[in-house]
Amino acid sequence: MSLFAPDEYLVDVHAIDLDGYMAAGIDTLLIDLDNTLLPRDTNVVPTELREWAADLAARGFKVCLVSNNWHDRVKRVADELGFELVAKAVKPLPFAFLVALSRVGSVRSKTAMVGDQLFTDVLGGRLLGMHTVLVTPLSGSDLPHTLLLRRLERVVLAGRVPLP
Ligand SMILES: [Mg+2]
Repeated sequence: MSLFAPDEYLVDVHAIDLDGYMAAGIDTLLIDLDNTLLPRDTNVVPTELREWAADLAARGFKVCLVSNNWHDRVKRVADELGFELVAKAVKPLPFAFLVALSRVGSVRSKTAMVGDQLFTDVLGGRLLGMHTVLVTPLSGSDLPHTLLLRRLERVVLAGRVPLP
């Protein structure tokens, strides 16, 4: 099984089958922030996202943001959504994922990693044997090194998923 093949390709986090996850024993979500939950260049949390976060809590999901970002903004967003947070994560290295799991009191086998990048979010999740979900990036705004990775993603994903 390829380390670069997510278990699911989804248009965004709202497409996650929360009932199906719970039925399959997946009760934990580790979620990337930039271009997965919010466009990288905004601080505004849309009402729809706030409602989704409340729905997760009501259903009993354990949720932790795992972000390579280091700005104060990440903490503010996590607080606003009521999610745990591990920032400066250095994905795809495993340490931050493991910290996140211990923070919410869960294990890899019950966890889905959700993100918009193949070489950080999906690879990191795969290396730890977690369920992985690749979502379409919310904006075309990326850091220079991310833009390079995007070109590689297009090669690896060629023909398998439409990327913008
Ligand atoms: Mg991202």
